Amino acid sequence: MNQPHRNRRLRTCPALRTLARETRLTTDCLIAPLFVVEGTNVRREISSLPGVFNLSVDKATEEARLLFDLGIPAVLLFGVPEHRDATGTSSASPQAPVQRAIAAIRAAAPDMAVITDVCLCEYTDHGHCGILRGDATIDNDATIEVLARAAVSHADAGAHMVAPSDMMDLRVAAIRRALDAAGHTELPIMSYAAKYASCFYGPFRDAAQSAPAFGDRLSHQMDPANAREALREILTDIDEGADAIIIKPALPALDIIRTVRDQTLLPIAGYNVSGEYAMVKAAAARGWIDGERAMIETLTAIRRAGADLIITYFAREYASLRQR
Ligand SMILES: [Zn+2]
Repeated sequence: MNQPHRNRRLRTCPALRTLARETRLTTDCLIAPLFVVEGTNVRREISSLPGVFNLSVDKATEEARLLFDLGIPAVLLFGVPEHRDATGTSSASPQAPVQRAIAAIRAAAPDMAVITDVCLCEYTDHGHCGILRGDATIDNDATIEVLARAAVSHADAGAHMVAPSDMMDLRVAAIRRALDAAGHTELPIMSYAAKYASCFYGPFRDAAQSAPAFGDRLSHQMDPANAREALREILTDIDEGADAIIIKPALPALDIIRTVRDQTLLPIAGYNVSGEYAMVKAAAARGWIDGERAMIETLTAIRRAGADLIITYFAREYASLRQR
């Protein structure tokens, strides 16, 4: 005869709860973003991102080594150069902070994966993700040529993977073509395939000094109201040759991560963005939530939604917690 279900039986003690846990969170699935600036011996905390720093190449290298020793397998590098111009030329300079950091990190932590963000907003004097025409609209096809050059320069410097975040049309194909032509046929592309025009990027723009001087990013980033469009963006990037995809931001788009998980066999990364991190930090600092538990619940939820990987400012804190 049918017994009534007693669902609490598997929750009676910590050991059974551990066995019944469906989603496992490990440091293996975390990618730590690093903001690399010019100069030496610079370690400047970003006020809106407590615990996250602008780092010169030497300090970024130390940080990467420490992260690797804590079990974090990968860093994602963002450059914050001093030289900026209308067309973002320093994005492809071998002397730019990211390119120098790649080589230094590879030497200090040879088994760590070095992934690089590819966009122009940190390299243009106007802070837009692309090259502007006279009427201040973005010239998509001129932009993707510059992005492709930046990606090749990262590959030449030794990056293991490039991650274009610009959301221009056809950029994955352009970057793939350029990498192949330069002999980097085996270098994978992890594209920010679905990137929403989100308010949760605010603290990042402090960190990367990449806020647009005027206007907004609504002509290339997606309307947070759209789900089918996200899927179309992702399938387009996969078609153009993406090897892994990023969904950004993660928490407001857990439904998108879930939907995409069912549509592709490629690895999916959720970007637990700066505003998501800053909210937890701000509330924890006021004693309004338990910051450590909020971190674990956040990261677990992104994994549970279907992300294989999480790009997160919590990487170091979570890994340190696991070592305690
Ligand atoms: Zn950008």
